[in-house]
Amino acid sequence: MRLIGHFIGGREVKGTSGRTADVFEPMTGTVQAKVDLATRAELRAAVENAKAAQPEWGATNPQRRVRVLMKFLELVARDNDALAELLAREHGKTLPDAKGDILRGVEVVEFALGIPQLMKGEYTEGAGPGIDIYSMRQPLGVVAGITPFNFPAMIPMWKFAPAIACGNAFILKPSERDPGVPMRLAELMLEAGLPPGILNVVNGDKEAVDAILDDPDIRAVGFVGSSPIAQYIYERAAATGKRAQCFGGAKNHAIIMPDADMDQTVDALVGAGYGAAGERCMAVSVAVPVGKTTADRLMEKLIPRVENLKIGPSIDPTADFGPLVTKEALNRVRNYVEIGIKEGAKLAVDGRGFKMQGYENGFYMGGCLFDNVTKDMRIYKEEIFGPVLSVVRAHDYDEALRLPSEHDYGNGVAIFTRDGDAARDFAARVNVGMVGINVPIPVPVAYYTFGGWKRSGFGDLNQYGPDSVRFYTKTKTVTSRWPSGVKEGAEFSIPTMK
Ligand code: NAD
Repeated sequence: MRLIGHFIGGREVKGTSGRTADVFEPMTGTVQAKVDLATRAELRAAVENAKAAQPEWGATNPQRRVRVLMKFLELVARDNDALAELLAREHGKTLPDAKGDILRGVEVVEFALGIPQLMKGEYTEGAGPGIDIYSMRQPLGVVAGITPFNFPAMIPMWKFAPAIACGNAFILKPSERDPGVPMRLAELMLEAGLPPGILNVVNGDKEAVDAILDDPDIRAVGFVGSSPIAQYIYERAAATGKRAQCFGGAKNHAIIMPDADMDQTVDALVGAGYGAAGERCMAVSVAVPVGKTTADRLMEKLIPRVENLKIGPSIDPTADFGPLVTKEALNRVRNYVEIGIKEGAKLAVDGRGFKMQGYENGFYMGGCLFDNVTKDMRIYKEEIFGPVLSVVRAHDYDEALRLPSEHDYGNGVAIFTRDGDAARDFAARVNVGMVGINVPIPVPVAYYTFGGWKRSGFGDLNQYGPDSVRFYTKTKTVTSRWPSGVKEGAEFSIPTMK
C-alpha cells in the first residue's frame, strides 16, 4: 500500500498523527493509497520552515525567481503522461481530461513568468515641490492554499505559481481524496531549483485547515471548494486578520435561444454537462430553452445523445467520462436523482442502472437528464456535482435571464444564439461572474481572472491573472523629499500636494 506523507522543507516526511484517509482508485473502487492527515503541530512545523526560507526567496530578484518556474514547465512537460495517469487514477477523470487539468494549470504558471513586469510599482516625479512618490509591491510572507478534489493539478498551480513568483512561501493543503499529483508538483518545483521550504504540502482534513486559519504567521488563504466551507474559511480567516479569497460551488445555466444552432448547442451541452462526470465547478447543470418549440427541439436531439454517452474506466482514451470520485459522491448524486423524481421532475434519461463490465466495483453512473424542472425544486437550487443535467423551460428571454441572475450561485453562465444584440444584452445584465457566448465553459484565459459571484465567491479579488498579483503582494507607498535648503517650518494641517 502506497503511503503519502507531507512535503515539508524540501522532502517528503511521514505523518505523525496516526490518522490517515483512504485514497481510492475510482475506476476499480479499490483503495490504492493512504494519505497522512496532519495535526496542528505538523502544520506549524511547515509554517516555521516556510517562514525561515521566505526572506531570502523574497529578496531574490524576480527574474531569477521565474527561471525556476521556466524549468518547472519543462519538467511538467517531461512528466506529462505520468502525471496525467496518476491524476486519472486518483480522480477518475479520463486521461485526455487529466491532461487538460494539467494544461490549464500550466497556463497560469506561464502567466506568472511575467512577474518581473507585473510586480512593477508606480513612480511620480514632482508630486509636490521637491516631492517624489513611488509605490512598490512586496510579498506577504507565508501564504496558504486549500484546494478541492476536482482539479488536483490545475487549482494548486493557480494558487502556488503566482504566490511563489511574487516572492512568498506557500503551504498547500490539497484535497485528501487525490493528493498524489500535488505532491509530485512540489517535488518537481524542488527539482526545478526552488529552495526547500518555499513550497510545502501539508495533507489533511479539517484539523489541518483550522490550524492554517488560526496560524498567526500565515498572511493569506486562497480556498476553492464547496460554498459552505468557502464561507466558513472566509469568516475564520478574517478573524485572524488574513486576506482570504474563497471560491465555492456553482449551478451554471446555459440559455438556448430559439435561433441557436441546435446541433452545436447539443454538442456543447453534452460536453459541458457530462464531461468529468459533471464534477467541474464550471459544468453546465441547467439548460434553459426559451419557448416551447425550442425546448421540444432541444429534447429531441439531447435525449439520444445522453443515452449514448460512452462511460469507461479512466484509462480508456475513448470514454466520454469516467467514474465519480468516491462511493459517497456516487450515492449523493443518486440520491439527488431520487429527490428530483419525488419533486415531480420528469427523468427523461435514467443512467442509474449503468454497470461497467469488468469494473463492477468502480464508482460509475450513466448520464441522467431531467425535463420540466422548476425553480422551487432542490435539484434546481442545489449543486449536484454529477452527470445530471436539468432542463428548465422558460417562456421568454426575460424569464431565462432572471433564472441564473436570481440563483444563489453565480459562477458561470452561457447563452446560445445567433443574435449579437441578445448576446450583448445578456452579457451586460446577467448577475453571474463569467459569461460564455456560444461557449459552454467560459473559463477565462490565464491573463484574465477567474471568479464567480454571489455564493460562488467570497472575497474581493479573483484567482490568477492581474488580481493574483494584487492578492499575493502588499503595496507600500513612499513619499520622499530631499532637503533643498529652503526652510518652510513646521506644518500642522494635513499635508496636501500644493
Ligand atoms: P470541499 O469543500 O469538500 O473540500 C475543499 C477543501 O476543503 C478540501 O481541501 C477539504 O479537505 C477541505 N474541507 C472539507 N471539509 C472541510 C471542513 N469541514 N472544514 C475545513 N476544511 C474542509 O470540496 P470538494 O468536494 O473537494 O470540491 C468540490 C467543490 O468545489 C464543488 O462545490 C465545486 O463547485 C467547487 N469548486 C469550485 C471552484 C471555483 O473556482 N469556484 C473550482 C473547483 C471546484
